[in-house]
Amino acid sequence: MNDSTSILFGMPEIAVVDVERVADDGGKSGRLVHIERPEDWAACPECGVISTSVRQRRTTRPRDLPYGEEPIRVHWHKRQFACKEPLCARKAFTEAVAEIPPRARVTGRLCRAVAHQVASGRSVAAVGRQYRLGWPLVHRHFAIHADAVLPEPEPPHVLGIDETRRGRPQWIKNEATGRWTRTELFETNFVDLSGSGGLLGQAAGRTGKAVVDWLNTRGHAWKNQVRLVAIDPAACYRTAIKQALPHAVIVVDHFHLVALAGKALTAVRQRITREHRGRRGRAADPEWANRRRLLRGRERLSERTFTRMWNDLIDHELTGQILTAWIAKEELRSLLACAREQAPRSVISHRLHRFLSWCADSDIPELLTLAETIDAWWPETLAFITTGITNARTEGTNRLIKDAARVAFGFRNLTNQRRRVRLACTHQTINVPAA
Ligand SMILES: [Zn+2]
Repeated sequence: MNDSTSILFGMPEIAVVDVERVADDGGKSGRLVHIERPEDWAACPECGVISTSVRQRRTTRPRDLPYGEEPIRVHWHKRQFACKEPLCARKAFTEAVAEIPPRARVTGRLCRAVAHQVASGRSVAAVGRQYRLGWPLVHRHFAIHADAVLPEPEPPHVLGIDETRRGRPQWIKNEATGRWTRTELFETNFVDLSGSGGLLGQAAGRTGKAVVDWLNTRGHAWKNQVRLVAIDPAACYRTAIKQALPHAVIVVDHFHLVALAGKALTAVRQRITREHRGRRGRAADPEWANRRRLLRGRERLSERTFTRMWNDLIDHELTGQILTAWIAKEELRSLLACAREQAPRSVISHRLHRFLSWCADSDIPELLTLAETIDAWWPETLAFITTGITNARTEGTNRLIKDAARVAFGFRNLTNQRRRVRLACTHQTINVPAA
C-alpha cells in the first residue's frame, strides 16, 4: 500500500480507493473518502483460517478525525467473507481493522483525540461540540483513557488529608417544617506528601467514616507503609486516623493553626467594635483600618507600618484587647517557628508556656478558646514542630481540584468527577519522563 493518497490518509491497514468532492448538508463543499482493506482475503476471527470467498459487501460511515478546513466524510467499503473451514462454527465474518473494530462507528484515532482533549482540561461538552460527537461517547473514551493512565495509588510515607468544597452551597427546604437549611457538599482528598503520587484519591463528605473507609479499602500492607499523616485540625479526621492507622504519627497543619489565631484576633476586634461603638466597623475606625495589617506576620510589617498600627491601637482602643490578641497570635507563630529554627526541646517548652499563659492571663474568651484548642492538639502540633511536615502541597492540589471540578461542572456522577480530578492532579507526575 504505497499509493500517496493512502499515505496521506494515514490509517494503518487501510487503502484509499477514491476521494471525491461532495456538497455537504449546508450546501458547503466537503470531501468524501472511500476506503477499503487492500487485501482480497481475511482471516476468520473464530478459527484463523484465511478466506477469499466474499459473501457480500456493505458500506459503513465511520466518523474520523477532521483533516484540513473542509468537512471530510469516510465511506468504508467492507466485505463479508464466508468461513470455508468445515470445523468452524462461524459461517461468515466481516473484515475489520484495528482502527475500526467491529461495530465501531468512530475511528480509534478520533477516540484518542477526544480523550486527550478532555484529559488536557477541556469539558466533555465542548470537545463533543467540536467533533460533533455525543457527550456519552466522548466521556466513555475519556474514561477508558484515564483509567489506563491512572496508576493504582502507591502507599506514601507521608499522607496528607484535607477537604474541598464541591460546588456552591445549596439551600434545601425541609418539606415537613418548611425550614430552609444550607448544605455544603465536601470531598476529602488523600494526597501523597512524600513522593510523586499526587492526589491518591477522594471520598465523599468530610467525616471520619469517609476517611476510615477509604483507608481500609487500600488494605493492610498499604496502610502499614504510611508513617505520618498531615491533617487540618478537625477532630473527626484525627479520630479516624487513630482508628485506621494506629501506628502513624499525626501532624496538624500549621497554616490552619495560624489561621485559628487570626480568626480569634478578628473575633476580638469585631466584638470590641460592637461593644464600644454599638455598630459594625467602619473605615474611619483605627481597628478596622488596621484589620489586614493585624493579620499579617510581624516580620512582614515594616518598622514604620508596625509602629503606626501599634500606636493607633494604643491611642484609640483603650481596652488593649486587640493588641493582646495580636500578641497571642505572634506568640503562637513564634512557637510554630521552632520547626524552621530546629529549636531544642527547652525552647519549645518555653514558648509553649509563654503562649498558653499569655492567653490564660488575658481573660479574653476568644484567646482562652484558642489556647484550649492548641492544648488539645499539642501532640500533633509538636509533631509538626519536630517534622516540619505541612499540608501545603495538598492546598496546591486543592487549586487543581477546583479548576478541574469547574471544567467538569456537568458531572453529576461523582466517580466521573473524581476520575477527572485525579487525572488533572496526577498529570504532571505522569508526564514527567523517568530520570
Ligand atoms: Zn472460521
